[in-house]
Amino acid sequence: MSDASNFDILVVGGGLVGSAAALGLSQQGWRVGLVESQSTKALTEPLAPAGSVGEFEPRVSALSIASQQLLESLGAWAGIAAERHCPYQTMTVWDGDGTGRIQFSAAELGADSLGVIVENRIVVRALMLALADSEVELIDGVNVAGWWQEGGRRGVRLDDDRLLGAELVVAADGPNSRLRQWAGLPTREWDYDQQAIVCTVRTTQSHRHTAWQRFSQTGPLAFLPLCNEQGDSHFCSIVWSQDTAEARRLMALDEGSFASELESAIERELGAVEVVSDRFAFPLRQRHAKTYIADGIALVGDAAHTIHPLAGQGANLGYSDARALLQELARARKAALSPADPSILARYQRRRKGENLSMMAAMEGFKQLFAADELPVRWLRNTGMRWLDRMGPIKQRIAAQAMGLNRH
Ligand SMILES: Cc1cc2nc3c(=O)[nH]c(=O)nc-3n(C[C@H](O)[C@H](O)[C@H](O)COP(=O)(O)OP(=O)(O)OC[C@H]3O[C@@H](n4cnc5c(N)ncnc54)[C@H](O)[C@@H]3O)c2cc1C
Repeated sequence: MSDASNFDILVVGGGLVGSAAALGLSQQGWRVGLVESQSTKALTEPLAPAGSVGEFEPRVSALSIASQQLLESLGAWAGIAAERHCPYQTMTVWDGDGTGRIQFSAAELGADSLGVIVENRIVVRALMLALADSEVELIDGVNVAGWWQEGGRRGVRLDDDRLLGAELVVAADGPNSRLRQWAGLPTREWDYDQQAIVCTVRTTQSHRHTAWQRFSQTGPLAFLPLCNEQGDSHFCSIVWSQDTAEARRLMALDEGSFASELESAIERELGAVEVVSDRFAFPLRQRHAKTYIADGIALVGDAAHTIHPLAGQGANLGYSDARALLQELARARKAALSPADPSILARYQRRRKGENLSMMAAMEGFKQLFAADELPVRWLRNTGMRWLDRMGPIKQRIAAQAMGLNRH
């Protein structure tokens, strides 16, 4: 493979996580290539303003303060701050089958916000604009079609037969990562038999900069606050996770019937609901790679783990992976080690695997707790929520964890 273009580090996948990792690695002085199958030209064009019609992208992320800090340190936050984004100061979670309710507020934590809701395309756009000013060689609009390894070198083959080589390949190619499969890294996975329906809605009452989450036996429903360029606070992005049969029924409803079911499911907290975008349904699957590293390869983001969207932590876990990888590779650079040095990769894995696993286990516990129909469990759940709502310090620790502030 002597004719392969050569990098120190090749990142495959320019989504939320891969583009941030590539930017940070290049800022450390590594020679970095980034391959993304979609053309990024469209991504960097100016956005249409979100007026009264649904110009918002239905796929959004609730970015924690820690993710925000990472994007700031990479110089990409200014690009997000210049576009529409919605900080939220309160999060209200309640049990639809009882009276338990818990409210987290930024003021109780002495913070300005608990996090920020941003459309995924705005984050990727800000990262792409920052990448355009960096030393990263962006190879976009072309698929990675194969993987090669020869002696101490490795790399990928593109759809157009170009060969790229590197000392380390970072797989950020999402949940169905081909690189993970080619490297033979096994996963533990199971189907939730649920689908997440996402769309944008307009409500007659303001969202009051609050993230709303109502749990029911068939799954959680989240209303995530959005702001358009005029600061209109009547738009939300919804994530409605439901058992597959119920999700199919909801997807088959006409717009008016769907909106009225949504309105009752959120108990009319925000008044009347109007659906202003197409609806999309994503099958939900929990997946965790048993190993994040192999000879010269490291998995980050959804390539390493996919998690139930009930607490909106998927992108945040990916950013924590990127932060840990960046810190470990900065150590490698300082010590003049190869970026693929096994001790560096092992430290990265050690730092991330345990934390990702415990977050995934917590999500699973939550999901099962709320799926239970037995009276004693429902009583405990509701009493527990009311009790927790009054327990300042414990509540604050949970909120700090969700904001990603315990993870450094
Ligand atoms: C319904 C739903 C709601 C969610 N809500 C939230 C939320 O509120 N908060 C949150 O934090 N997370 C949320 N998530 C999760 C979040 O969207 C993901 O965790 C996040 O997008 C993962 O980023 P990534 O960069 O690892 O992967 P991706 O975003 O999947 O990016 C992978 C990239 O790799 C590219 N690629 C793939 N294969 C190849 C190839 N062969 N060659 C070249 N390029 C390739 C793709 O084009 C893509 O750009 C949600 C997920 C779902 C399904």
